[in-house]
Amino acid sequence: MNIKKKIILSGMRPTGKLHLGHLTGALESWVAMQGEYQNYHLIADYHALTTNPDTSGIYENSIDMLIDWLSAGLDPEKSPMFRQSKIKEHSELHLIFSMLITAARLERNPTLKEQIRDLNMDNVVYGHLGYPVLQAADILLYKGDVVPVGEDQLPHIEITREIARRFNTQYASVFPEPEGKITKFARLSGLDGKRMSKSIGNTILLSDSPEVITKKLRTAVTDPQKLRKGDPGHPDICLVFDYHNKFNHSEIPEIRENCKSGKLGCVDCKMNCAKKIIDALAPNREKRDYYESHMDKVKDILADGEKHAGTIAEQTMAEVHEAMKLG
Ligand code: SF4
Repeated sequence: MNIKKKIILSGMRPTGKLHLGHLTGALESWVAMQGEYQNYHLIADYHALTTNPDTSGIYENSIDMLIDWLSAGLDPEKSPMFRQSKIKEHSELHLIFSMLITAARLERNPTLKEQIRDLNMDNVVYGHLGYPVLQAADILLYKGDVVPVGEDQLPHIEITREIARRFNTQYASVFPEPEGKITKFARLSGLDGKRMSKSIGNTILLSDSPEVITKKLRTAVTDPQKLRKGDPGHPDICLVFDYHNKFNHSEIPEIRENCKSGKLGCVDCKMNCAKKIIDALAPNREKRDYYESHMDKVKDILADGEKHAGTIAEQTMAEVHEAMKLG
């Protein structure tokens, strides 16, 4: 029996090379879901403009991000990857959806309020307020059933569900009401203990060389009370221990014990951790080297993904027009 796979839509803004946080927070779960679901992955280049209209480097960043996706194990045969700006139907559906939600509802969005606070924004552009509406169009254009998200994105999925319901009630039943699927991962902190972010410069990039990873790990903050080997440490408040937990899980009991007793010093512990991260990223690095020296292949993968996505998007918009009796 041919059972239709559920559809997943997920994407990222093309802000350049990806870091460990992207790997543990999204890419690993996208790759794991590839067989069970029909995945679609969006390079959200229009979304990137909501907080910064500068488009210099946006194409290079998109290609760099695509290479990171491929290097992490996304298979273009199973998971079409495409740029939002190349599928015109995203903009068209966004326009239609923008008539189905009030400005007051969007202003109440808690994620927007947090972004305004975190980015210290004085003014919010119209497109930023409407970010969840464009996101609804991104998801529903492919009739996404499931959207892998971090907890902070759940309010956006709720807006997508509301818009789908409103469209289906107003016109005809075209769209599913997608579910948010919380990605289960330990969110990794940056090397300074703060949220991992490229703009802060506290990341380990998936494309970093072994030498750079080792150098960066040396600067990682640890338990401030453990000043030298021999001092008893508190691994549960140490971010290097978190990294071990992710990349060197089998040695966790030994590291915990030796850190606490003082037998293990932070320098040795960090170098061991660097080695494990380097080993874990070795397959990514190998694939990245391959794609970087086969850029034609990367561009073909993107073109194929855009062709595939464009076909689905056209079909959905034909249904939308019919439901709306636009002729
Ligand atoms: S020994 Fe390792 S786990 Fe313990 S504080 Fe130092 S770096 Fe952290």
